[in-house]
Amino acid sequence: MARKYAPEVHLAPAGDDWTRPANVDWYLARVQMRFDHPGCPDCEILAVGSVTQSNMFSQSHTTKGTFCKHTDKRLYSKDSEKKFFLQPPNDDVHKGSSNPADWIVYTHVKSKIGGGYYIQYWFFYPYNDSVASVNHEADWEHITVTLNERGEPVSVYYAQHDVGTSVGWASIQPTGTHPIVYSADGSHASYPRAGSYDIPSTPFKDRAISGGPVWQTWNNLVNMGEKRFPLNGQTFVLYGGRWGEKGEMDVTSGPQGPPFQGSFYDENR
Ligand SMILES: [Zn+2]
Repeated sequence: MARKYAPEVHLAPAGDDWTRPANVDWYLARVQMRFDHPGCPDCEILAVGSVTQSNMFSQSHTTKGTFCKHTDKRLYSKDSEKKFFLQPPNDDVHKGSSNPADWIVYTHVKSKIGGGYYIQYWFFYPYNDSVASVNHEADWEHITVTLNERGEPVSVYYAQHDVGTSVGWASIQPTGTHPIVYSADGSHASYPRAGSYDIPSTPFKDRAISGGPVWQTWNNLVNMGEKRFPLNGQTFVLYGGRWGEKGEMDVTSGPQGPPFQGSFYDENR
């Protein structure tokens, strides 16, 4: 069923957008894991080439105290602990993969009270390149398709930054059973149609542009499972740290993975 309603994602053309999707394993093979010591030098936890889905959630490290010496307080990467973060060693990784075979969609399926399902489709991009001051490494984006008790599509929620838009299925112009998603230039916010959209509480706009690569996600989709309960070997869901470098602010830092985001549990976010 997740395959049946998987979206057709329209990426912005290469001349507008240099960022492309990737997948978890592609990214992990190209990053290091570090630990943030505010005010002191950070520590490397795992070197480039040694971060995998099997070990990223089982790391631990101690904090630093006076004179930047390590203390006895130990923190764990399986917890919601933003001091652990992944970091590409160079900007080349930010481009994502130029090979569409590397673009994988991660699904998360929830039962709906009263019957039916919510199917979330999560997309991963190594970089968010929209507004210069709030860019960050690692960009997890999603849409949610709601099915009724008869398994029929009712609506699609398009996530856009911290908000989003719910569109009734009758207003959607799907490709067969597949809803269309326009992935905004650089920010990868999801929109039902091409166009220019205000980003709430900012002076900036998202641009959803047609004419770029078309990603038929049903050909490359895996069910990631639930928080603490990975499916299909997708043990990345157990990792609670950040997926990109820790920046000056939360909005300029890499986000946590889907199960550690509120929208994983809320079909209206
Ligand atoms: Zn350390």
